[in-house]
Amino acid sequence: MSQLVYDIRNSRYINLTGRCTLRCQFCPKHNGSTEVHQYQLKLDHQPSAEAIIPLLAPIDQFDEFVFCGYGEPTLNLAPLLTIARHIKQAGGKTRLNTDGLGNLFHRRNILPELAECIDSLSVSLNAQDQTTYERHCRPKLKGSYDAVREFIRLAPNYIESVSVSAIDGLEGVDIDACRRICDDAGVQFKHRRLDVVG
Ligand code: SF4
Repeated sequence: MSQLVYDIRNSRYINLTGRCTLRCQFCPKHNGSTEVHQYQLKLDHQPSAEAIIPLLAPIDQFDEFVFCGYGEPTLNLAPLLTIARHIKQAGGKTRLNTDGLGNLFHRRNILPELAECIDSLSVSLNAQDQTTYERHCRPKLKGSYDAVREFIRLAPNYIESVSVSAIDGLEGVDIDACRRICDDAGVQFKHRRLDVVG
């Protein structure tokens, strides 16, 4: 098993980038750890689709292929789309774990491209307001909180299965308010606990 893919339960996770649009203070990467479960995930380059596609087989043996990374997968968008199309053509299922800032970063709506090859989206909302978000997630781009809220609002128009998470246990995060935001957007809310990744 390489650092580019790793398995949790019956899903194969694809580590597509080490870069991120956020600098979450709860991120293991900023706390001296580069491991999720026992896997070493630090990447010093953005892998290509050609590097990852040979590591996917046997595609029909996995419940799901999850684009994650120790960073934000949409920052490596072209390989993400190529790999996801390959998985779909082989009959597999795909999920993208994202911070929901792909549209802000790419300065266009990438949801139509994702919709062609991503079956489900898991978006990290993390906070009910901008101040709390900035405190915990320390975004690199201006307007990030508004952008993730807009992404969550738009996503169900393109992708059938959208779940949105917030982490219980972070100071000031109001889980009920996060849940209401999700209810209003018509997406499923996923309540996560601090220190559980993957
Ligand atoms: S979005 Fe994920 S990878 Fe990026 S800084 Fe936050 S916890 Fe770390």
